[in-house]
Amino acid sequence: MASQRMIEGRIALVTGASRGIGAAIARAFAAQGADLALSARDGEALEALAAEIKAAHGREPLIHTGDVTDSASVQALYKDIFKCFGRLDVLAANAGILADGLIGMIREEDAHAILNVNVMGVLNHLQSAARLMRRNKGGSIILTSSIIGRVGNKGQAAYAASKAAVLGLMMSAAKELGPDGIRVNAIAPGFIETDMTAHLSPQVREERLKGIALPRTGTPEDVADVVLFLASDLSRYVSGQVIGVDGCMVI
Ligand code: NAP
Repeated sequence: MASQRMIEGRIALVTGASRGIGAAIARAFAAQGADLALSARDGEALEALAAEIKAAHGREPLIHTGDVTDSASVQALYKDIFKCFGRLDVLAANAGILADGLIGMIREEDAHAILNVNVMGVLNHLQSAARLMRRNKGGSIILTSSIIGRVGNKGQAAYAASKAAVLGLMMSAAKELGPDGIRVNAIAPGFIETDMTAHLSPQVREERLKGIALPRTGTPEDVADVVLFLASDLSRYVSGQVIGVDGCMVI
């Protein structure tokens, strides 16, 4: 008998799917049987990923090119998901940005951008996903926080504040949506090799590596597998939790 894939037939939306961790989540979801909606601002990258997924798995993802801070665009995406698939089972709210700055040096526009994308962008998706998932009395929402949102870091106060806020959203949403059978959890990645960390100098990388018990940095696939677990029924009694994906990192 063929074994059942982990999220066979589920409808899943991944934000920030154009590269990095989001693209890895999309690939993992597709490999485990989900039908996908993929969202980001870079439409060409989304089209390339959708073509790859269609070639590998025979199912064509719905593509949405837009900004998570544009609430009208986000609402339009959920209308398209309803029209195309009739429901939503999984949201991986992964889109996020980083800008560093010591407390005295944080530029106001950077702080606004970080809070807009990392907090308001997540809230926009949380609201629309909750509305759609409530219709079917079930679903799994996975928000992307960061180790920095749990413990803070020098030079990253605005980013840390935004990722701590994601945990507040997650814990509140888990309490509010639990009675409708909707689970809400967060992941807190550590040092993952993507465009977001590619700018770090060899010295900073060396320093960060010293703080990781497992002797390597993380890959987008390391994170995607944990998101897959949270999306699947293997985590059916897990809600309101934050799972670190950091190789036991100390900052
Ligand atoms: P990345 O390679 O820079 O990818 C970020 C993704 O977010 C891209 O797909 C980008 O797509 C999308 N995005 C950014 N701003 C957006 C906006 N305004 N509207 C829509 N989409 C937007 O970074 P990553 O490392 O994969 O990060 C993914 C998530 O993990 C982020 O939330 C990040 O904070 C978190 N995280 C990463 C690390 C790490 O070490 N890499 C550690 C902890 C947490 P477009 O540019 O095409 O819009």
